[in-house]
Amino acid sequence: MRWLLSVVLCSALLVSNLIAAPAGKSREGGPRIRPQDPRSAQLLRDGMARSATFRALVDQIEASQVFVYVQVSPFIKASLAGQLTWMTQAGPYRYLRATISPDQTSNQAIASLGHELQHAVEVMGDTNVVSEQTLVSLYKRIGQPSSAVATSGWETIAAQEAGFQVRRELVDTTGAVMAAVLTENVHL
Ligand SMILES: [Zn+2]
Repeated sequence: MRWLLSVVLCSALLVSNLIAAPAGKSREGGPRIRPQDPRSAQLLRDGMARSATFRALVDQIEASQVFVYVQVSPFIKASLAGQLTWMTQAGPYRYLRATISPDQTSNQAIASLGHELQHAVEVMGDTNVVSEQTLVSLYKRIGQPSSAVATSGWETIAAQEAGFQVRRELVDTTGAVMAAVLTENVHL
């Protein structure tokens, strides 16, 4: 059975698109975080330019031996904003894939990516994780089953909070008054 570490982010839908702030630096990760398509690269650039929390997550991963391949892909369960899956291990290096749903506003997608990067940091902090099985062991310890996935989905409070915090910072940088919309209107 194929196992997925599936993670759900706040799937609140914003009623209008926020205008993206001009990207300051054109960083889109480094050698560790590898965007696989133009939209992923844009999400990374925007996230790093506009959210200190997002930037801190990227910096932690870039200083680690964990690689994260990032893709925006429609091949993700409709109820999920993003998910993190195990890829492989090679020597001291471990490889993860973060998949982000395309059916989100830019701000939502950046927050979803921030959420998944927090999961990557969680994996980074446990060197015992070297396979899907050991990844499950980690999440049995630090997470709880996710209600958005029928089987084998996990969630952590830290990742949820990371996503919420990134989204708050994105809203701050756009100066938009979105508080009412940003109440956690979770739909799974
Ligand atoms: Zn999650």
